[in-house]
Amino acid sequence: ASLRDLLESGGRSYSFEFFPPRDDAGEAALWGAIRRLERLQPTFVSVTYGAGGTTRDRTVRITERIARDTTLTPVGHLTCVSASVAEVRRVIGQYADAGVSNVLALRGDPPDGPGGTWTPHAHGLDHADELVTLLRQMGSFCVGVAAFPEKHPESVDLDHDARVLVAKEAAGADFAITQMFFGVEAYTDLVDKVRGLGSDLPVIPGLMPITSVAQIERVAGLVGAAVPEWVVDRLHAAGDDPARVRATGIAIATEQARDLLDAGAPGLHFYTLNRSTATLEIYQGLGLDRRTVSA
Ligand code: FAD
Repeated sequence: ASLRDLLESGGRSYSFEFFPPRDDAGEAALWGAIRRLERLQPTFVSVTYGAGGTTRDRTVRITERIARDTTLTPVGHLTCVSASVAEVRRVIGQYADAGVSNVLALRGDPPDGPGGTWTPHAHGLDHADELVTLLRQMGSFCVGVAAFPEKHPESVDLDHDARVLVAKEAAGADFAITQMFFGVEAYTDLVDKVRGLGSDLPVIPGLMPITSVAQIERVAGLVGAAVPEWVVDRLHAAGDDPARVRATGIAIATEQARDLLDAGAPGLHFYTLNRSTATLEIYQGLGLDRRTVSA
């Protein structure tokens, strides 16, 4: 079934996200991870769309290759950053030509990072909902959008975020994937808010296991939000042993994933950081690796 059909029928979607590596060695490592994770038969995999021209080419090239050379269904990320509408249309055309029929429509972050000052391209799009509209005009894409359980850094409050999400659905979005977050209430609160606005948009929670103390800082920079104290405390309590810290990070993510599924989440989206082991371990912890055998 297509991704849209699966989500419309109330099925669960399990997906893995990668980023375009900077060099060929990184790309070889990425393909190793993709091949190892392919065995889990995820619903889809996706490759992020970077800020610079070269990583964008890599994103499109890797996404096209996933469509051509693997059994996986790719979702192509696309942003409005530093691009005219004509340039955005060209990338949409490239995805369509490669048979990529699912696209994640994003505005993208300001050049100075999450929470910086957003300035649209003079001939570009200002918000993700406009990109959703453009995709809908250009073809029969299944369109995903971003959601923010712990508030988007530029947003005034969570109610505004919920309204933005519903506006993206009104523009034609079929599903949403959340930024990484911790705990479960942030997710259920966001879903309750959008349901309160009359939306039945499937919101897939995004999950990133923290496997080292150094990653705490990196993650905070990536998403423009702090890692909560209880997570930091649990990781520090594991002491100086990297293996114990790692196991703790995996345990935290596995507990969160289980709680999210119990709360009715329509699947899970793993931020893999181009590695396979943590995702495989969480999959096993949840018993999801057996899902593919019985399916
Ligand atoms: P929007 O929905 O446009 O929202 C941006 C801000 O504008 C928000 O504060 C929102 O409240 C506000 N807003 C939106 N619409 C309106 C409106 N009509 N009127 C007034 N205010 C409005 N970034 C990348 O560069 N590449 C990627 O591949 C990528 N992948 C991602 C994948 C996921 C699952 C997620 C959650 C994020 C990803 N991001 C990626 C990051 C994302 O681009 C940033 O978080 C960005 O700052 C917001 O993008 P958006 O699509 O939510 O934008």
